[in-house]
Amino acid sequence: QECINQIAAGEVVERPSSIVKELVENALDAKATAISIEIKGGGISFLRVSDNGEGIFSEDLERAFMPHATSKIQNPKDLEEILSFGFRGEALASIASVAKVECISKRQEDFLAHRILVEGGSFSPIEEVGGMDGTSILVRDLFYNVPARKKFLLSESTEASRVEEMVEKLALANPGISFHFVKDGKSRFQTLGGGKLSDVVFGIYGKSFAKDSLEIRESYYPSSLTGLATLHIEGLLGKPSLTRSNRQYEIFFVNGRFVRDSLLSRALEDAYKPFLMQHKFPFAIVFLHLSPSLVDVNVHPQKLEVRFQNREKIYQALFDCVSKTLSKADL
Ligand code: ADP
Ligand code: MG
Repeated sequence: QECINQIAAGEVVERPSSIVKELVENALDAKATAISIEIKGGGISFLRVSDNGEGIFSEDLERAFMPHATSKIQNPKDLEEILSFGFRGEALASIASVAKVECISKRQEDFLAHRILVEGGSFSPIEEVGGMDGTSILVRDLFYNVPARKKFLLSESTEASRVEEMVEKLALANPGISFHFVKDGKSRFQTLGGGKLSDVVFGIYGKSFAKDSLEIRESYYPSSLTGLATLHIEGLLGKPSLTRSNRQYEIFFVNGRFVRDSLLSRALEDAYKPFLMQHKFPFAIVFLHLSPSLVDVNVHPQKLEVRFQNREKIYQALFDCVSKTLSKADL
């Protein structure tokens, strides 16, 4: 069983950044409003995600680390309309099969928190400890028992930047949640969770981007798309002066999920073309919301891919909205 878990772990636990993603999504599912992420040594030796969410019942603590232990699917219909991020019920089990995990969790109605250690497939007895409402999961010594996988990790500083980028994206996708990222004992950034995208962007990318950017907000209704679907686009477009030398700052979210997609990049770049020099790329953060019938964002849980039903319409809508905003602006 341990071996099966380790193989399954390849799916969700590739590196520290993928662990952070899973743990933060669990925190969001648990209705946390504040999430803090702390790493040391690139997140390989130490990685902790703490939240102020609803917590785990002490009698469910062990079960949460067993494969297919999801508490999020009650009936088959839930599978169709999955609102929560996690529904595969394997993240914690996978993580615990390739690292040493400590989980401390407290439900509001409990006086004390409960703590469990999971290592090499065995559980420590559950202990009562002091603690705040919510859950904190500490992952130590990633791949200590799977040297073949450890070899594929990059340098600590590269893994750390990947974690940081992941936290940035999670923070951007959730402006209403306060995120705090700490690396090697130093606070790297904090967002306030007030719900305004520009405040999150300010927290992460600093003043210049927040100041030199243009807001977009546009909705497209049924007549222009199939069925009863709607498409809503909003975001911040960096002015052409904030030009970049690669696509890393073309940041797209589709229905709350960060994605990389060549169609979206093309629409954005084509709209920026009259304003940018050759071989330069825009700095833009764009959120697309479209009815689930028009998009499949779960092509693969880790690959950040998305499949649109009507590609031309999406291209056109994004292109129009960006070019309109840029051409009206005082650049
Ligand atoms: P999934 O998220 O797919 O259900 P996970 O392995 O990620 O599976 O988590 C297993 C279960 O542990 C969840 O269904 C949830 O009940 C519980 N859990 C995990 N993390 C948290 C958290 N931060 N707060 C509250 N409950 C959690
Ligand atoms: Mg999960």
